[in-house]
Amino acid sequence: MSIVLATGTIASPQSTASRQHLLAIDEPPPYSVINPDGTSPILLLCEHASNRIPRVLGDIGLPEHERQRHIAWDIGASALAQHLSRSLDAPLFLTNYSRLVVDCNRPFAAPSCIPEVSETTKVPGNQGLCEEERALRIETLFKPFADAVSRRLDILQRSGRRTFVVGIHSFTPVYFGKRRPWEAGVLYAGATEFARSLLAGLREDSRLPVGDNEPYNIHPDEDYTVPVHADGRGLPGVLIEVRQDLINTLDGVAAWGERLERCFRRALRECP
Ligand SMILES: [Zn+2]
Repeated sequence: MSIVLATGTIASPQSTASRQHLLAIDEPPPYSVINPDGTSPILLLCEHASNRIPRVLGDIGLPEHERQRHIAWDIGASALAQHLSRSLDAPLFLTNYSRLVVDCNRPFAAPSCIPEVSETTKVPGNQGLCEEERALRIETLFKPFADAVSRRLDILQRSGRRTFVVGIHSFTPVYFGKRRPWEAGVLYAGATEFARSLLAGLREDSRLPVGDNEPYNIHPDEDYTVPVHADGRGLPGVLIEVRQDLINTLDGVAAWGERLERCFRRALRECP
């Protein structure tokens, strides 16, 4: 991991060009693995788990209320993913830094991987980065996470174990001023059978508005987990999206955790 000597002063985002390290020795590593020896065929990822900004980037030019919004992280997703990791006995890989710094579910060549604007918010610390600055974020935060997931999947595939890749996400109820009708969604491309089973499980509650490839769909130019870690390997993979205000309390996380656990257990029975 990279090391930088702490100076006690917070750098302005623009002053980082000359710095060679993004993380100090007392900052968390780029990602964490929870329940690494979990026995479930499901490998959980949480790519937008944290809104932490490396200290050297200061506040990335945004006030506190912007850094608490969905543009910085998926509110509730980490807690939900950890709940599922426990209840399903599934390994969980989660990022420790904000997607405003680098988005670990975007191809690293995509502009949205280090967004200059997120929704309607201009991100001052991401304006006009040079190649060196972009590479530093990708090498320090993106690649270690992506490579760790790849290594795990290599091992699972070599061992011939049945494996499903699942990213846990949350979405904002209002996006670009428009209210979204869904409470949850399943996003997928190649994994139609796995996704259909999960959708059927969620729709057992007929009152629940569930999105089928909503509120987003998977596109190789804008996604990484499903195209690379799942479809690209011939493994079934989906992203689960839950509306953030439904999982921003412990009770909400418990309720959605139990619901999704039932759906995953059903899908594991139905899908070979
Ligand atoms: Zn997300």
